[in-house]
Parts: sequence; structure tokens; C-alpha cells
Amino acid sequence: MAKEYDIIIVGGGPAGLTAAIYSARARLKTLIIEKAVPGGQIATTGLVENYPGFPDGVMGGELSQLMADQAKKFDTETISAEVLSLEVRDNERVIHTSEGDYSAKAVILAGGADPTKLGIPGENEFTGKGVSYCATCDGPFFINKVVAVIGGGDSAVDEGMFLTRFASKVIVIHRRDQLRATKIIQERAFANPKMEFIWDTVVEAIEGNEVVQRLQLKNVKTQERRTLEVGGVFVYVGLRPNTDFLKSILALSPDGHILVNEQMETAIPGIFAAGDIRVNAARQAVSAAGDGATAALAAEKYLSQVGH
Ligand code: NAP
Repeated sequence: MAKEYDIIIVGGGPAGLTAAIYSARARLKTLIIEKAVPGGQIATTGLVENYPGFPDGVMGGELSQLMADQAKKFDTETISAEVLSLEVRDNERVIHTSEGDYSAKAVILAGGADPTKLGIPGENEFTGKGVSYCATCDGPFFINKVVAVIGGGDSAVDEGMFLTRFASKVIVIHRRDQLRATKIIQERAFANPKMEFIWDTVVEAIEGNEVVQRLQLKNVKTQERRTLEVGGVFVYVGLRPNTDFLKSILALSPDGHILVNEQMETAIPGIFAAGDIRVNAARQAVSAAGDGATAALAAEKYLSQVGH
């Protein structure tokens, strides 16, 4: 027998935790299912300077802990489990997880996104041995080492700057000759003497012995190849939504994001999506929180319509 709730929220990042705060304050029995610790991507981010209400910025870990505390204060229940599948039965939505089954009339999918992998030789082999996707988690292991960061977006440049606290030099390797990152982040990076940039270049392979020692690079304009000696490499080439388990039941965009309308409703009544998992998300903590609130309000309305 599945354990019953009014609303089940899959994912405990800013979208899921905000949805939980709204849902629990509406006196709906709310469960958050989170595969790791609550917080989402923001929990592994350094200083967050663009979340309103924190004029001096706030550390990502602290911000997510505050959100989790706030959700808990309103009696939201949280379990740690991996979601395996979602089943739609008349008015009931059943979530099958690694820890058993849970059912509710409304479900909010807020499972966010995971880092995209490069898919090059050596990447999987050296993950945890010099290849990392989280500067906040692994930066302190690279004291006085030369590290590379791959990517040209906000994450690559922001996290590269964070790594200059530990590394002797941070080399950003970008496939174009212009960064995608926000201008203020670019200005700070260009002014930082520990930051260097290699333009128009892709990494073809990550090599080493026990740990990462070098990268094989190719300039995409000149086709010239060369080797770069590094002590570690941080990959920040975008995010992939966690929607594999939904492919057979929900409409997804070509790159796997859930299609929703302005109320965060999917094509299936009673199933909503919020944050980085949905199509056209701004992919910011604050917009994810906004999505969470919208989805919870829409779910509350749906529950009253189906006679909850
Ligand atoms: P992103 O904005 O999608 O940037 C990904 C970067 O990786 C791009 O520069 C892209 O190159 C490059 N890239 C993609 N695939 C590649 C490949 N196979 N090989 C080499 N390079 C590749 O991802 P993100 O930086 O993780 O940011 C995700 C979202 O979070 C964004 O909306 C961002 O604004 C937000 N964010 C905001 C902040 C902040 O506000 N402080 C901090 C972190 C993240 P091209 O430029 O050529 O496409």
C-alpha cells in the first residue's frame, strides 16, 4: 500500500522547497522526495549575490539550509529516496521510489538538473581523481595546483573565480572566443591575475596516471593540437534535466525539459513542474523559487476542483 499525501514534491532545491512552504502553509499534507540532501544545485554553489534579500550575498549552502528549515517549520515531511517511476491512476498519482511507494492527488516535479558531461575519453575514469563538477565541494583538494575549468557560462567563470582561492592558476578553456557569462562576472574574472583563458578550444581527452595530469586540447579554428599540464579539471558545460523516468508519460522538449503552461501545469491534470526541470526556465535560484510558488498555488486550486 502506498503511503498517502495531498501533495508530493519530487526534488528539494529552491523550487521544491518553496512549493513545500506554500503547500504546507495551505494545510496540505506535503511530502518532499529528495535523492540526496535537500538544497539542490544552489547548495553546492559558493557566494550567491543575486538572491534578493541578501545585500552582502549569501553562501549557497546557507541559503538552501534556510529554505529547508523554513519548509520543515511548517511540518513538511522529507524522505531520502530515488524516484524510479510515476504512475497515473484516475485521480491518484503514485510515485515508485527506492524506498517504497507514495501516492497523492497532486505531484510537483522539481527534480532540477545535473551537470552535463563532456563525454570525452578519461572523463569517467578520472571523476573523483582530478575531474570534478563541483568547485565548492572539491576546490580545497587543489591547493597550489594549476586547474582547468571547461565552459564559458556563469558556472564556469564563477566557480573558476572561487577556485583561485586554492589553485595557483585557473585556466578557463572555452570553445568560442567570447564568454556567455554575465558581464559583471566576466569583468571580475578578467581582472583576477590568477585567471587565464584559452579561447576557441575544446578538450579532446583527459589523461593521467592515478590522477589527472594533462589535457589534450584542439583549437577549433586552426585545428592545432597541444597538451596542457594540469592538476585537475572542473567541467561546467551546462545542465541536463532529471527527466529520464518521465519520458514515457510526459511531453518533454527535445533536450528533455518538461513542457508546462504559465501555471506550471503539465499535460496531465494534477502533475506540475517547477524550476530547472521545466522548459524555458530562467535557471536561477530565485526564478526556481517563483516557479515553486506558482506550482503549489496551481496544485492547491486543482485539489479544490477535484473535491479535496
Ligand atoms: P550554460 O549557461 O548553459 O553554459 C554552458 C557553457 O558550456 C557555455 O559556455 C557552452 O558554450 C559550454 N559548452 C556546452 N557544451 C559544451 C561542450 N560539449 N564542450 C565545451 N563547452 C561546452 O550553463 P551554466 O554556466 O552551468 O549555467 C546554467 C544556468 O545557471 C544559466 O542560466 C546561468 O545563468 C545560471 N547560473 C547563474 C549564476 C549566477 O547568476 N551567478 C551562476 C551559475 C549559473 P557556448 O557558450 O559556446 O554555448
